[in-house]
Amino acid sequence: MALTGIQIYKLLPKTNCKDCGFPTCLAFAMKLAAKQVELSACPHISEEAKAVLAESASPPIRLVTLKADGYEVKAGNEVVLFRHEKKFYHKPGFFIRERDDASLDQIRERVAATDAYTVNYVGMDLTLDGFAVESASGDPTTFSQAISAVRAVSQRPLILMSRDPGVMAAGLQAVNGEAPLIYAADADNWEAMADLAKQHQAPLAVFADSLEGLADLTQKIKARGVEDMVLDHGARDLGTSLARNTVIRRLALKKTFRPLGYPIIAFPGDAGDAAWEAILAAHAVAKYAGFIVLDHTAPEMLYPLLVLRENIYTDPQKPIQVQPGLYEINDPSPEDPVLATTNFSITYFSVANEVEGAGLPAWLLVTDAEGMSVLTAWAAGKFDAERIAKDVRRFHVPDKVHRKRIVIPGHVAVISGELEEELPDWEVRVGPREAVDLPTYMKEALV
Ligand code: SF4
Repeated sequence: MALTGIQIYKLLPKTNCKDCGFPTCLAFAMKLAAKQVELSACPHISEEAKAVLAESASPPIRLVTLKADGYEVKAGNEVVLFRHEKKFYHKPGFFIRERDDASLDQIRERVAATDAYTVNYVGMDLTLDGFAVESASGDPTTFSQAISAVRAVSQRPLILMSRDPGVMAAGLQAVNGEAPLIYAADADNWEAMADLAKQHQAPLAVFADSLEGLADLTQKIKARGVEDMVLDHGARDLGTSLARNTVIRRLALKKTFRPLGYPIIAFPGDAGDAAWEAILAAHAVAKYAGFIVLDHTAPEMLYPLLVLRENIYTDPQKPIQVQPGLYEINDPSPEDPVLATTNFSITYFSVANEVEGAGLPAWLLVTDAEGMSVLTAWAAGKFDAERIAKDVRRFHVPDKVHRKRIVIPGHVAVISGELEEELPDWEVRVGPREAVDLPTYMKEALV
C-alpha cells in the first residue's frame, strides 16, 4: 500500500537541509506521497529507508507484458476494484488455444483465420491478441512443431502450455529469442519451470488449486529469481472463480499482499460447452482476468466479447470520440446538404450509417462537442450555434458547397434562429430527432 506523507516523513533524515529543493523534510514527504517528486531528489536518505519506500511505490499488481514482433499485451498495474472509481487500464488479452494433437495443416489454417479476424466497432478495429499452444501429446518434438506451425502464420504473442519442463524447454527452443508466457509452474515442477523462466527471461504462470497454495508458490518462485508471474487459481466454475478473482484483487489492492499481486489467467474454454465458455469469458473480462484463453472462435462469441472488453476498459469519465471535421458520405457534390452533429462516436456512427446505408450523398459536419451526444452537449453548452458556425468556418465548408443548406438535429431545434444569425447566408433546416428518420427526411424535405 502507498505510504502517507507522515509515514514517509518518519523515514527521512529530518534535517531540513533543503538539498532536495524543499524547505523541510515534511514538505518533501508530502510531495513524494503525491508522486510529484522522485525519491532520488533527497541525497541523504538511508539505504534501508530507500528499500522501504521503493517497495511501497511499486504497483500492487505487477505489470506483466507479452511482446512479439510489434504486438504487445499488458496485464496488471490496476489500481481500483471498481471501474467507476477511476478506470481499468490494461485490457485482458484474448488468446486462442491450439493443441498439438491436431494436424499441422489444421493448426496453420485455424490460426491464419483467427489471426486475420477483425471487427470494426465505432471506428476501431478490434482483434484478438495471441495464441496459446498446448502440449496435448506430451511429446517435445510434436509440441515444437505445433508452435512453429503457429509462428509460420502469426506473429502475435504466445502462451506455451505444458507442465512437463522437458516439453516446455523444447517449446521455448522453437521460439528462441522470444519471451512467451510459460504455463505453468505447480507444486511439483516449480523449480525447473522457474529456471526455464529465468533462462528465457519469460513470465511464468503459476497454478495451485487454492489461494494459500498459490501464495506459497509465488513466494518460493520469487525467491528463486522470477519477478514476472501470472496466477491460475484453479477454479473453473463461475462462483468459485468469481470469488477467487475478487479476493486476489482485493488482497493486492487493499492489503498490498504481494504474493498475490500478479495478473490472473482464465480458461473459459475448459468448460467445454460454447455457451458456458462465453459466459465465463464475459465474467473474466469484467472481473479481473489479465489473460483469457478461449477455445471456440465463432464470430458470434468473439464479437460481443471484444465489444464488452472495449466498453469496460474505456475511461468512464471520457466518452469515445471521433475526430471533428467534415466527412463525405456517398461522394457528395457541392449541391448536397450539410448535416451537423456532435463528435460522440455513437452519435456519429448512427448518423453516418443511416445516411450511407440509404445511399444518400451528404456532407457530415462533426462538431467538437467534447465527445457528448447531441442533447447532453447542448445542455452543457458544447453544441450551440456559435460552435457549429465556428466549425463551418474551421473546416472550410463554404469552399465545398454551393447550395448552403445545413441540417441540425431535431433535438436542438431551439438553436435554429441563433444559427441563422451566425450563418446569415445559409439556409438552416431542422432535421428529425432520431438518426433512423434521416433518410426519409432527406428524401422528402431536402429536394
Ligand atoms: S534533502 Fe532530504 S534531508 Fe534534506 S530537506 Fe530534503 S528530504 Fe530532508
